Amino acid sequence: MNVPEITRRETRAVDVGGVVVGGAAPVRIQSMTNTPTRDAAATLNQIRELAGAGAELVRVAVPQADDTAALKRIVAESPVPIIADVHFHFDRALEAIAAGVAKIRLNPGNIADRDQVLRIIDAAGAAGTAIRVGVNEGSVVERSEGEQRDSDLVSPLVDLMIAKMAEYLEVFEASGFDRLVLSAKSHDVVTTVAANRLLSTRWNWPLHLGVTHSGTAQTGAIRSAAALGALLCEGIGDTIRISYAGDPVAEVEAARELLASLRLRERKGIELIACPTCGRLETDITDIVEEVRAALSEETEPITVAIMGCVVNGPGEAQNADVAICAGKDKAVLYRSGQRVRTVSADEIVAAVVAEARKITGN
Ligand code: SF4
Repeated sequence: MNVPEITRRETRAVDVGGVVVGGAAPVRIQSMTNTPTRDAAATLNQIRELAGAGAELVRVAVPQADDTAALKRIVAESPVPIIADVHFHFDRALEAIAAGVAKIRLNPGNIADRDQVLRIIDAAGAAGTAIRVGVNEGSVVERSEGEQRDSDLVSPLVDLMIAKMAEYLEVFEASGFDRLVLSAKSHDVVTTVAANRLLSTRWNWPLHLGVTHSGTAQTGAIRSAAALGALLCEGIGDTIRISYAGDPVAEVEAARELLASLRLRERKGIELIACPTCGRLETDITDIVEEVRAALSEETEPITVAIMGCVVNGPGEAQNADVAICAGKDKAVLYRSGQRVRTVSADEIVAAVVAEARKITGN
């Protein structure tokens, strides 16, 4: 059966420090450090970890002058292009551009003086720095006198976000600036989806997708997958950041999983299919799943491994896996590409699955 692939919306290609975002480029994975940027050594360590996990672009916060002062070293030593997250300070934007960052993230609504925005545009244009123009629900509502968020009304809020974006973009487009990436974020999934749908129909600049303030992994991963998954399925989105509190490496792994699940990026390493467990379960597979995941976490060759909790429905569900185990009472049946290999005892399951998987990956 042929499953239709997602057709990506056409956008302009924007070069971000040698990584193309938009156009025919794959959806890019980005993340953000949570170290103080002024601590260049700690920030570089985290950037390397994020790059190792699959981040192709990394953003760092630059609230103070000593943060931008660290950027030169960070840019020089980072394995991936660096984006400076500029909040209120126009000076930080100019300092970051001078330090050689590939992109800055700007919310022009937070920089009230239009001349200052024009100076940032001029400096970025001269340096070849891309700019992400971001509107966030919070700042848009805060800065729009008389506009109050009514939680039952998504549309006026989304209209306001789009109107603000149009207002900001006038300045950029009038200056002929052509390295733009756009974003519209909210903590609310429905608002994020609606705003990005509108952005995508109105402009063809590449879109950065994300959900703000999504909480910890438990809520953040689900909200991000709901919003970003809905948009990506419609072909909308050129770079994504899944964000939640905690280790940002986990954000990158979640982003990789999301894109691989949607077949927008090739899966690297293990795809684990695990039985959700039910009343037929005869061997508790929870620990087995985690042990197999950990043992095969370094694999880079794509491989599908299924760990199923019974010999009744397990074989059918595991049919399409490269390696599968169907656990029964005190023993399990090992399968390779749907073919029965042998029966193993319960305490051999992890070793047997890992060994069979490694025969396929060659490790
Ligand atoms: S594989 Fe067996 S135990 Fe696991 S959910 Fe399916 S039927 Fe239940």
